[in-house]
Amino acid sequence: KINNGFPCSNGTIKPLITPSPSSFINLDQGDPEVFRAYWRKKSEECTVVINGEDLMSYLSDTSNVCWFMLPELREAIQRLHRVVGNASAGIDKHIVVGTGSTQLFQAALFALSPSDSPIPINVVAASPYYSEYKDEVEILRSGLYRWGGDAREYDKNEEYIEVVTAPNNPCGSIRRAVANCEGEGKVIHDLAYYWPQYTPVTQQYDHDLMLFTFSKCTGHAGSRIGWAIVKDIEVARKMTRFIHMSSIGVSKESQTRVAKIIGVICDSYQEIGSSLDPDELFFEYSRRKLRERWEKLRAVVDKSNLFSLAKYPKAYCTFTNHTSESYPAFAWMKCKGSIEDCESYLRNLKVLVRGGKRFGVDQKYARVSLLSSDDVFNEFLTRISNATRNRE
Ligand code: PMP
Repeated sequence: KINNGFPCSNGTIKPLITPSPSSFINLDQGDPEVFRAYWRKKSEECTVVINGEDLMSYLSDTSNVCWFMLPELREAIQRLHRVVGNASAGIDKHIVVGTGSTQLFQAALFALSPSDSPIPINVVAASPYYSEYKDEVEILRSGLYRWGGDAREYDKNEEYIEVVTAPNNPCGSIRRAVANCEGEGKVIHDLAYYWPQYTPVTQQYDHDLMLFTFSKCTGHAGSRIGWAIVKDIEVARKMTRFIHMSSIGVSKESQTRVAKIIGVICDSYQEIGSSLDPDELFFEYSRRKLRERWEKLRAVVDKSNLFSLAKYPKAYCTFTNHTSESYPAFAWMKCKGSIEDCESYLRNLKVLVRGGKRFGVDQKYARVSLLSSDDVFNEFLTRISNATRNRE
């Protein structure tokens, strides 16, 4: 049994049971539990009331390319990017909402693939790449696109689509497009983790096609809301068409909730004399939470001599006006010495993680989620400490 808590009838998870030393703990998925205490405190402020006759239509704003997007969500997303300064989402850009950025990734592949080519376009990403891209590209065995592997090794003289994840999942580094070949490349920038709690915001990105997800911005993964910021109206139109064909839009209950929560975050930063208690401000709270986890993890890993962790360069964050390190959502751990398979080693400690192979690299690496509840995270540290002691 995986003891990460259990789902209640209302869909929430009760993470309050401390995992017992004999149970498996799941740090394979990046289910964002880490910010729950913050949102518990903000419960009332974030409440949305939806009446029986509300939100019945398929349509939202037929004057917009993305006709199923609620205007209040579009305005909230634009406001959030203005407050954080991480991406340019002004009136010259088109925003497309999706059921998570997972749906938008597929919509982007559809929109960027040539419709008249006899062969599928290659989709590449530099390893280690987010493990789901390959499966999402391959699942339909599409005639439009196919998986082309590691972007650094791509040398075909054919058109391609490169996915750039910045900061990267699994390893947390900031990345740019790397495919270097004769063929013409289009780029999807997946900026799921380009928020101040994970990494210093060093510039306002203005790429052709940028994907964001509410799942990692605030931790509300269950609302399943993502958005794309797109320069070219034709690309935005095709992405909207894809979502029309796959789900005729995106739940308006979710859109309303997300607009409300974004409003709560932005209000707290923009209110005159805004709170002096940094823990009241979401990005301050969430950054502190992740920093503390990284400090604890590094202390345990340094002592263990079993694993190594990457060091991240410090950078000036234009949002916080401070220089700081990155605190990625995942630890990208490399086994030391004779341990060849990091995932299996941790499985023996009853810790489920995702091995390097899924990310296109060696099994010496594994990705460990740092987004779990406190209890699960602390139990993970205990297990590594105990393993260290047992080897001594
Ligand atoms: N891109 C990256 C890099 C991710 O890590 C994730 C979630 N793990 C997604 C996309 C998908 O997010 P969503 O919940 O919005 O579908």
